[in-house]
Amino acid sequence: AIQVRDLSKSFGGGRSLFGKKHHEIKAVSSVSLDLARGETLAVVGESGSGKSTLARMLVGLERPTSGSMLIGGKDAAALRRDGPRAFGKTIQYVFQDPVASLNPRKTVREILDTPLKLLCGYEPSRRRARMTELLDAVQMPADTLTRYPHEFSGGQAQRIAIARALAAEAEIIVFDEPVSALDVCVQAQVLLLLSDLKTRFDLSYLFISHDLAVVEAISDRVAVMYYGEVVETAPAARLFANPEHAYTRRLVASAP
Ligand code: ATP
Ligand code: MG
Repeated sequence: AIQVRDLSKSFGGGRSLFGKKHHEIKAVSSVSLDLARGETLAVVGESGSGKSTLARMLVGLERPTSGSMLIGGKDAAALRRDGPRAFGKTIQYVFQDPVASLNPRKTVREILDTPLKLLCGYEPSRRRARMTELLDAVQMPADTLTRYPHEFSGGQAQRIAIARALAAEAEIIVFDEPVSALDVCVQAQVLLLLSDLKTRFDLSYLFISHDLAVVEAISDRVAVMYYGEVVETAPAARLFANPEHAYTRRLVASAP
């Protein structure tokens, strides 16, 4: 579960050498949201509305300017104090470009071995067994282990990135446009896989997307971001049938 309260992030706003004030961007502005255990919460909004900045704060890649986050029952500030691996054991992420997010110099075995070793602390034999299970879970053949990220298609590489996220055994996974770079047919397969994995491993998802069709297919609730703020949060069915905020109405009306 996640509880976010009044979370903000600004970029810039410092002064130059000559005292000239830099322009400040409020990327995320007083955002509050909750992700319940086992839930899929979608975050939608147009380009630049602050979705990725929110995601990066949640997974510990970006420090909030102000506000608080409870992630899996733990305060994010405490997670930060616990060291670089504390976030990884609690919350994992899968981003848009799978090939860019996988180390090109490592085989899939090495990619999966790192979280199994450093985050779970498993012995070599347990790690080998776990890798087989993970590849099976994301429906990739066993010979995947000896290959490198560039040898896979976008959809296959995204499955490997998903397996890596699963390897940490965190309860929560943040997806930032995980299927946007894939063609429509592959998108559907990966979305199906994600809902299968969610029940199988008892996960909670925070799912960022600008594609309302994808959001409608996968989410329980939807939060709408507009210029850094969450302007509306509602169950998916209600949001699509009966949007309240003017921006959400425009968004829903403009969907094909
Ligand atoms: P998209 O749909 O295009 O991915 P987004 O909703 O994910 O957009 P963000 O990437 O969170 O939007 O960006 C929100 C705002 O913050 C934008 O105005 C962006 O230019 C700004 N921003 C994001 N990261 C930085 C950074 N590291 N330094 C300065 N400004 C940033
Ligand atoms: Mg983004």
